[in-house]
Amino acid sequence: MIEKMKFIADMHTHTIASDHAYSTVMENVAFAKKNGLKYLAITDHGVKMPDSPHIWHFTNMKAIPREIDGVKVVKGVEANITDYDGNIDVENNNFYECIEWIVASYHHPVCMPSSKAEHTNSYIKLLDNPRVNAIGHCVTIDFDFDFDEVFSYCTKKDKLIELNNSRLNRTAEAERYKEILLSCKKHGTKIVVNSDAHFCTRIGEFEKSIKLLNEVDFPEDLIINADLIRFENYLQKHIKL
Ligand SMILES: [Zn+2]
Ligand SMILES: [Zn+2]
Repeated sequence: MIEKMKFIADMHTHTIASDHAYSTVMENVAFAKKNGLKYLAITDHGVKMPDSPHIWHFTNMKAIPREIDGVKVVKGVEANITDYDGNIDVENNNFYECIEWIVASYHHPVCMPSSKAEHTNSYIKLLDNPRVNAIGHCVTIDFDFDFDEVFSYCTKKDKLIELNNSRLNRTAEAERYKEILLSCKKHGTKIVVNSDAHFCTRIGEFEKSIKLLNEVDFPEDLIINADLIRFENYLQKHIKL
């Protein structure tokens, strides 16, 4: 049985650095602590999003302490996938050096939907990028892709598929997430459950995700942020803190 108390990290959250989000780093940290989280990733939108922060927001993230009030802060970005070739808007080594964690997502209007074959090809190439950690909200219906092909490759590359709690508010996407989870289960693909909070009170809010995970009897050992040791092992192997 997967329960809320097991979750120790929220690895996709926004701050006022993205204009359509409304809380500060400190407010997010306070709610992470309140919800029992040990890790919080700050992942504002990559620079190609119309309301994204200036690139200096990302290159100066070292200004944020590693740990605030017992919560470890991971400096990240929600990168935009910019084409059908798996490219993202993290464009140079200087940028990469300053970022510890990358969730990569398709967003209108940065990239408009194309064909299922092109989205599939794009995700496969994205997974070849050694710095990308997770595919963000791949539930968007417009950006359909071949689940079997992408999730089996994801397992091979030891990357993560995000279960985005905010997207479970939409019925069609919640149904589609069920199919995604069943396919991840079939392929042994690891997932990370994230809030994608645009306001601090949403940090660590995973209730709908937990309900869905239990519904499909999702293997707990594939959920990287539902156990501290599993999560820290993942971090040690894949990212430099
Ligand atoms: Zn997004
Ligand atoms: Zn987001």
